Amino acid sequence: MAERDVDLFVIGGGSGGVRAARIAASHGARVMVAEEYRVGGTCVIRGCVPKKLLVYASRYADEFEDAAGYGWTVPEPSFDWPTLIANKDREIARLEAAYAANLERSKVEIVKSRAVLEGPHEVRLLATNDLVRARHVLIATGGWPHPGAEIAGIEHVISSNEAFDLKEFPKRILIQGGGYIAVEFAGIFNGLGSEVTLVYRKDNILRGFDDDVREHLRAEMTKRGIKIVTHNIVESVEKVDHGLCVSLSDHESLTVDQVMFATGRRPNVAGLGLDKAGVHLNDKGAIKVDAYSRTTVPHIYAVGDVTDRVNLTPVAIREGHAFADTVFGGKDIKVDHSDIPTAVFSEPEVGVIGLTEAEARNRFDRVDIYKTSFRAMKYTVAARDTRSFFKLVVDGTTDRVVGCHIVGPEAGEMIQLVGIAVKMKATKADFDAVMAVHPTAAEELVTLREKAASYVREAAE
Ligand code: NDP
Repeated sequence: MAERDVDLFVIGGGSGGVRAARIAASHGARVMVAEEYRVGGTCVIRGCVPKKLLVYASRYADEFEDAAGYGWTVPEPSFDWPTLIANKDREIARLEAAYAANLERSKVEIVKSRAVLEGPHEVRLLATNDLVRARHVLIATGGWPHPGAEIAGIEHVISSNEAFDLKEFPKRILIQGGGYIAVEFAGIFNGLGSEVTLVYRKDNILRGFDDDVREHLRAEMTKRGIKIVTHNIVESVEKVDHGLCVSLSDHESLTVDQVMFATGRRPNVAGLGLDKAGVHLNDKGAIKVDAYSRTTVPHIYAVGDVTDRVNLTPVAIREGHAFADTVFGGKDIKVDHSDIPTAVFSEPEVGVIGLTEAEARNRFDRVDIYKTSFRAMKYTVAARDTRSFFKLVVDGTTDRVVGCHIVGPEAGEMIQLVGIAVKMKATKADFDAVMAVHPTAAEELVTLREKAASYVREAAE
């Protein structure tokens, strides 16, 4: 057993941990990162990146169909799942190697091991049993899919982790959940040719998003052939001759080839030895941190999904960067978690920033709503029955655009750019002053003149 000293020990080689390690090293710290699985973490290995590759794959189905309207004759296309998965794996392996190379170039030592805290400054590497003494520790262990209740047949249920590596393409799949992962995978499997049933426990998918966005996306997904079953939960899954028989709470049952639960993720804290170090959890089971990502132990920090603040890769990266700059770079940086643009890579795509209409009406005395729904130009000649949706939520007193909601092709790309204006507190008049780029879908953002609704809060009695 060897003993080592470092300035920073990072547990978890995902987006947040890797960024923190590199920046801390650039400030002169001796840094070690422990990763028990693959460098890159959820986003690179079994999240955002492979998901987007599968999304791209699924969209070719429409492209082949739409080409006919533009005069192309496309031979009957066929799809091969093993080819897609092999190519996806190759790209993920390339990215993993690039992540590791960047760390090495930054003089960060990577150890392939599970690491657990044995005391406030002591970290044990389980692969070698070595003990490392760290001046600072950063916990960046992310989250893990949570399947919900222990129903009968839960062993037949996969999470998104396994969906990326299925040996056989499921012709029929049932997905439970109504969040990001459920709607994204519903779109992927539907596009690739599966018969998809999405089961959600409440009234509509994407709880927390603007109601118009939820309605619009649900209608579009339904048009594409995805069966959305609401007010239901999966009660049991049984292996039968030709698949899995799923029983729902309304006593309906159906047989599919795969059942996937996307019922949320939990902070990855089990067995980390947090109690031995004195690190406390909050009431949701996430590591409790302050605005500097500092835990209840002053020299131990935590970033990313393990802290369950805003569970998005760019947020974890910002938190990791801010931590390293503050602790090792002599700066004083807190991450601003307000007005974060985000995209759901469903089909069609969703891009949002800021407040929903309901949130704005709760917060402001006057709220103006601008919205439009239209068929994007590309789909007129292609004769595809799909509509885009744009909505601006405006504080009627200051004229500031406090929310922007887009459903349609490239919504993710658009919201990144609108995000700059919203973050800069642009007003509706600022939007209107911008000349349109014609013909685009994004021009709707600067040509919305008619208020769809205007709300004035009644004075309290
Ligand atoms: P979400 O928290 O977004 O959604 C979980 C869904 O499962 C909700 O619809 C929830 O219902 C439902 N649910 C929870 N528990 C149960 C249960 N016991 N039985 C039935 N249904 C249940 O989690 P996801 O797994 O979709 O995603 C995890 C996180 O990953 C997200 O928070 C997101 O931040 C991140 N992510 C981001 C992506 C992106 O940026 N594009 C892509 C993928 C993931 P209810 O609404 O009633 O709570």
